[in-house]
Amino acid sequence: MRKQVLVFGAILVMAPPVATAEDWHLHGGTQTDWRFSPLDQINERTVSRLGLAWSMELGTSRGLEATPIVEDGVVYTTGAWNMVFAFDARTGQMKWSYDPKVPRERAYFFCCDVVNRGVAVHNGKVYVGTLDGRLIALDQRTGTRIWSVQTTDPAKAYSITAAPLVANNRVIIGNAGSEYGVRGYITAYDAETGKQVWRFYTVPGDPNKGSESKAMEIAAKTWHGKEWWKAGGGGSPWEGMSYDPDLDLLYFGSGNASTWYRALRGQGDGLYTACILAVKASTGELAWYFQTTPGDSFDYDATQPLVQANLMIGGRLRKVVLQANKNGFFYVLDRQTGEFLSAAPFVSGITWASGVDPRTGRPIELPGVADANPKLLSPEPNGAHNWNPMAFHPATGLVYFPARVGTQMVHVPDKKWKYDPNRDNVGIDGNYEGPLFAKMISMPPPTGELLAWDPVAQKAVWRAKYPVLDGGGVLATGGNLVFQGRADGIFAAFRATDGEEVWQFDAATGIMAPPVTYTVDGAQYVTVMAGWGGSAGLMNTPAVGAAKPGWGRILTFALDAKAALKAPPFGHTGPPLPAITAKQDPQIVHTGALLFNSHCFTCHGLNAVAGPLPDLRYSTKETLDSFAGIVLAGARVSDGMPSFGKILSVKDVEAIRAYVIARAQETAKPAQASQRR
Ligand code: CA
Repeated sequence: MRKQVLVFGAILVMAPPVATAEDWHLHGGTQTDWRFSPLDQINERTVSRLGLAWSMELGTSRGLEATPIVEDGVVYTTGAWNMVFAFDARTGQMKWSYDPKVPRERAYFFCCDVVNRGVAVHNGKVYVGTLDGRLIALDQRTGTRIWSVQTTDPAKAYSITAAPLVANNRVIIGNAGSEYGVRGYITAYDAETGKQVWRFYTVPGDPNKGSESKAMEIAAKTWHGKEWWKAGGGGSPWEGMSYDPDLDLLYFGSGNASTWYRALRGQGDGLYTACILAVKASTGELAWYFQTTPGDSFDYDATQPLVQANLMIGGRLRKVVLQANKNGFFYVLDRQTGEFLSAAPFVSGITWASGVDPRTGRPIELPGVADANPKLLSPEPNGAHNWNPMAFHPATGLVYFPARVGTQMVHVPDKKWKYDPNRDNVGIDGNYEGPLFAKMISMPPPTGELLAWDPVAQKAVWRAKYPVLDGGGVLATGGNLVFQGRADGIFAAFRATDGEEVWQFDAATGIMAPPVTYTVDGAQYVTVMAGWGGSAGLMNTPAVGAAKPGWGRILTFALDAKAALKAPPFGHTGPPLPAITAKQDPQIVHTGALLFNSHCFTCHGLNAVAGPLPDLRYSTKETLDSFAGIVLAGARVSDGMPSFGKILSVKDVEAIRAYVIARAQETAKPAQASQRR
């Protein structure tokens, strides 16, 4: 263990102790979540020799978001539905796999695909959180289960997608579900036994039952709605934990409130939603909080990864925590006290706020943006930056992350919204057909870029634009390189200092996950999971570039390696051949379109143009004949298609079926082929 002080221009950086640079032990690479490795065998001069060492097909077309953990030449990672894998890093040979058998009918309560962002490895155990709310410890050598605890109430719409974090011999895990209406929290479990040590709620419960703590008492005063707690409150801490052992502080962000709209749930800041929090890792007590989007009405979760650094700011060395927030602003906070140091917009075209108050850090919300009327706002709910991890390079002093520029969303609060435990509780009115959609389509399409950001000066140093909106997580290395994959399947390396692209590889399917690097027997490797999906992938929003759905795989690269990628074909090559040619009633098709784009599009694509999941325009006669059985009775639950029996009526499903048939007929016509999207 060593500490080094590196001085680069005006930035003085305390490098964290690097236990063994050979491995990738921790989710964030270093204890400070830099996603930086000092390894430099692969560098700006040698990277042209980088080639595929091996790849393994994972048998899924769903999104892959995991950060692999690598110890002693073994890669531990996760796939769709929480499959856990151990691979030999040299050959790709599978050493073991573990299937937690997540019940497929839970799929309805996963907002954003059946994804997982990886395992934690500690003291001979591999920890994974599951989509149905379990935390499981596996034997690191064999993959057999040692213990499993249910961290959530299975009757409620909780899920887990984050990687667990080990802090002070405790395994910390949060949960997701604010879109459905749950009360968010994180829990610490004894790493050896799985016994619960503490739990910290991010929002208060029913005030009639009294407050669990002073922190909850303070928070309850910031919720002004009538019986808002019945919808759970939200605040799901679903990603982005970081631990400072010197301060014994655990940092994490919380998600949106339930419902999304302040105009529906009631006024007030709604603490501690859309907030960066620090709790004492030993006790779970709140140390400080900083709410990035008070009274959030736009799904601006503050769950983006947090990076710790020690930076010279205003002539003083500050221990800071950094975040590129969904809301479009980059935050620098003192991580000892939570003091707001600075914030600046990192994308152009933000239309919900005019800026951030430089004294308090509170965003200056534009008048009327949070009222109950329909409005077009940027950034959209996937944010100017989402969960895809950023990297910090100590030599450049820059952070690198995928930025999403000029995204738009039509927000239409449903004035009739009432909490319903059987469906999502976002609170959007799916029947809106006003002019804002046409306005949105007429605007320039959003763009994506890898952004190198100076957190001290709060300004961009370079931007590498790509032809798609979505870029994956980032890795920075001692070879003056930054690695990143993106939605069109290109995995690229950039020079860290100036953003020049120096290498690329076509992984044949979109990449969301962050790469990692390590050495085995003296050779440096780079590993990344490729698999397109998640909220951005499943919705298949038009005008985001040629995103590439496909079969998911894990890829590993080394210098002078020459393996060839054999990617099995995926998807449809020609237009659909409609299984039913009879003309559908336009009135019913119209009703079906509204229903489809309310209930089905998050998995089967906007306007029934799907990516990773079945494109329903290509439905067979057999599927169309058993449509009601599939949608209402759950006939294909085992494939991950949940039952909508509690949400849709027989008549609704008939209308959706008519719409799907009409879309197949429309897109089958050669004259309209160019308008297929
Ligand atoms: Ca959210």
